[in-house]
Amino acid sequence: MLKDKYFLPVPTKTCEEIFSGFGAGIKSHYERRAEVRHEPFRIFGNLYYIGDDKVCRHLIDTGDGLIMFDVGYGYNVPEIEADIRKLGFSPEDIKILIISHGHFDHFCGGNELRRKYGMKVLLSRTDTELIRERPERALMEYAYDPEEGVCWPDETISDGDEITLGNTTIKCVAAPGHTMGTTAFFFDATDGKTVKKVGYFGGVGFLTVYPEYNRRMGLPENKSALLRHTAEKLMKIPVDIMIGNHPGNNRTMEKLDYMKKHPGENPFIDKETWPLFLGELIKNTRMFEKKGF
Ligand SMILES: [Zn+2]
Ligand SMILES: [Zn+2]
Repeated sequence: MLKDKYFLPVPTKTCEEIFSGFGAGIKSHYERRAEVRHEPFRIFGNLYYIGDDKVCRHLIDTGDGLIMFDVGYGYNVPEIEADIRKLGFSPEDIKILIISHGHFDHFCGGNELRRKYGMKVLLSRTDTELIRERPERALMEYAYDPEEGVCWPDETISDGDEITLGNTTIKCVAAPGHTMGTTAFFFDATDGKTVKKVGYFGGVGFLTVYPEYNRRMGLPENKSALLRHTAEKLMKIPVDIMIGNHPGNNRTMEKLDYMKKHPGENPFIDKETWPLFLGELIKNTRMFEKKGF
């Protein structure tokens, strides 16, 4: 069995160094989109992966339509449509699109997808308000096509809310740190015989916890401590399957490779992944705070 181990990158660069290379990284992601493209696959039961190897997208088949987590960029929309069809569904089946947090790489394609298929888009109230006040907080200047604009939600979500469609109820838990309105989501996935608890921490990157960045954006400067407190809070929730916001969070691609080589085994089902990942996140936030960027 593939044993989980996590080596989240400990931030060593300054805020300026990180942001100076950020736009080029996004552009190269677009240019290499044929390489980063990935086939869609079933994680477990009614839970599917339709992201690439840079940004995650997930689908839940609720029996009464699809719930989708995150959408990526506008140029991903044709890929999303093809992937959904490959899995035996139709893009018209998407009833709800949940955006994990208010950053461009998770919502840019939402306008196009909603225009074509009319699903309801949800984002936390906090991130909606913060990016409405100061749109640069959505980091749109780094988007491949900033003209796509922010995908404003039809409804906002808050801590404790439940989203129900078909056989699935998703519990929303406020998970501030990466952004002030990042949300974590918890729900059951089923293959018809067994039920597994799924956890999705919708944003963990250090990019936006630098005090310097937050000063510039008019946001609290202690977001690293906030991220740590969030990780400590979420650690108490039992999770059988952790899904990622970016594939590195849960080693999505490594697990897929393992599944292909070991039919019948499912490395996504592992109760240790969630606490191991969060434990490392806590350790790294402490290291970050000690370094005092
Ligand atoms: Zn983000
Ligand atoms: Zn992201």
